[in-house]
Amino acid sequence: MLFSELGLPEEIVRAVDEIGFEEATEIQAKTIPLLLEGRDVIGRSHTGTGKTAAFGIPAVSMIGKGDRNTVRVLIHCPTRELAMQACDELDKFAAHMPWVRTCAVYGGADIERQIMRLKRGVNIVVGTPGRVMDHINRKTLKLDNLSTIILDEADEMLNMGFREDIELILGYVPENRQTVLFSATMPEPIMAITEQYQRDPVVVGVEQKSRTVDSVEQFFFEVPMGRKTDALQTLLLAYEPKLSMVFCNTKRMVDELTEQLVSKGFKAAGLHGDMKQQSRTQVLNAFKSGRLNILIATDVAARGIDVDDVDAVFNYDIPQDNEYYIHRIGRTGRAGKTGVAYTIASGRRQVTELMEIAKYIKAFIQRKDLPTREEIVAAKTTNLLNIIKSTVMSGKYAEYAEQVKALEAEGFTAEMLAAALLGMKISAETKNVPEFIKPVMRTEKGRKGKEGGGSVKVEISVGRQNKIAPNFVLGALVDATGMPGKNFGKIDIYDRFTTVEIPEADKDHVIETMTGTKINGQKIKIKLYEGRGGKEKDGGRQKDYRNLERKRDHNRKRPHYGGNNSKSAGRRNSKRYQ
Ligand code: ADP
Ligand code: MG
Repeated sequence: MLFSELGLPEEIVRAVDEIGFEEATEIQAKTIPLLLEGRDVIGRSHTGTGKTAAFGIPAVSMIGKGDRNTVRVLIHCPTRELAMQACDELDKFAAHMPWVRTCAVYGGADIERQIMRLKRGVNIVVGTPGRVMDHINRKTLKLDNLSTIILDEADEMLNMGFREDIELILGYVPENRQTVLFSATMPEPIMAITEQYQRDPVVVGVEQKSRTVDSVEQFFFEVPMGRKTDALQTLLLAYEPKLSMVFCNTKRMVDELTEQLVSKGFKAAGLHGDMKQQSRTQVLNAFKSGRLNILIATDVAARGIDVDDVDAVFNYDIPQDNEYYIHRIGRTGRAGKTGVAYTIASGRRQVTELMEIAKYIKAFIQRKDLPTREEIVAAKTTNLLNIIKSTVMSGKYAEYAEQVKALEAEGFTAEMLAAALLGMKISAETKNVPEFIKPVMRTEKGRKGKEGGGSVKVEISVGRQNKIAPNFVLGALVDATGMPGKNFGKIDIYDRFTTVEIPEADKDHVIETMTGTKINGQKIKIKLYEGRGGKEKDGGRQKDYRNLERKRDHNRKRPHYGGNNSKSAGRRNSKRYQ
């Protein structure tokens, strides 16, 4: 349906046309006329279907020239970003209605400035429930003439603990107002609010065939434990998305991953709720403008973020909730474009979790192998050659031919020169591609005392203090290195570190693949063990994993937990082992 058929003021139809919307989306076509009529509405449609305009267009239309100093519409959003984003969108709809004045109020920003703006007179306030309540209490937000109250992302606001604020606000505003609620899902608590605070609401639902947008292709990669960051790096280097969003389940993970990617030279930044408002805004703006091309975020921080042109979404962590998956991948494939969503899973449990999500959303998430270094190099070479060919055809850079000729006179052929240039460029682009060594069963060769292969010890920077048990260490080693458990020798756990005996032949491989992995949630450092003045001799809890199969090994009958040697006692609670 066209916007001109919805009974909207001419100024708005013009503004919407200038924004570039051609037709109203289904939820817009269904709800705009009801909102204009003054009905209470419950609008449910999935993410990316244009809910902001569904309430924003009627909200702006309701403001008359005479409303100069009265708040007529109050809109609630779950996060500061969404409030700002919705407010920006309203301003666009009101481009030809200079009398419409909007104001966004949200926590984490200077309240005095918001108060000044409110005092100057506004018609539409968009805010987070906590801050709106704050302004109501300070009497800086007067709602006596309010005609419409709107809750956007109502489900998420309840999830975020805003229920009390919302109910207080709903109880405070004039009774004969219009109450409108938009949400992607309609859980029980929303229905309760609806019953209590809405009058004869019209329920408008937009069904979707599949729970996710068809414009997003979905893939997943199964990678070894502890290699998710490497896998992500590989994908970023291989696919080079212009703008991508990476999702983690925790703020801490966002920070860690951001640090790692930035240290590898990616233009990445994190976004989560603990950040100061100012830096969140900066990050978001940098991302929207493309100065940053990787945004790493938690679900809540990224809720509803609407940036067109996000061409890939990466799930670094498996989302904890089916709906989160839908919202995450809904950040790409927006506004008629296509997008790709990649999930990185490690371990059977994560794969199973992801398959459950796929079942719920009725979508197919296709398994894919990580591109190998060779494939990446080959793809980039083909790509570069094509660029070179079209550059040659265009005649650009022809002026350099003279220099090439000069080199030819020195005996270099054009072939040699081109190959060197190509190699330099490709190796610069691929030098950071992590190595994924296919798990190979190592032979017995490297084992201690066999065919000349000695053993060495490595030191891993976690110990008893980190609640580490030998099987955690062994598990991590097997996962990261792809070597069978029996190749690892004695594991000694000390208070602050752990040593493991490994075949000398594998030392580089072990250190390389273990670097940066985690054991029991703890990021580790690993290096060759150089000894600690002999103190460690009896200090550790030891297990020799090469002997596990040999049931009657004397080491297992008499576990070598260390004696009460006074030298080592300082390193552990010796009593425990007496
Ligand atoms: P939702 O809140 O349902 O997730 P948004 O309101 O954030 O969706 O809108 C998603 C995207 O679609 C935005 O980029 C918005 O500008 C765009 N959009 C909204 N309505 C239309 C329309 N009628 N035609 C084209 N694009 C639209
Ligand atoms: Mg929205």
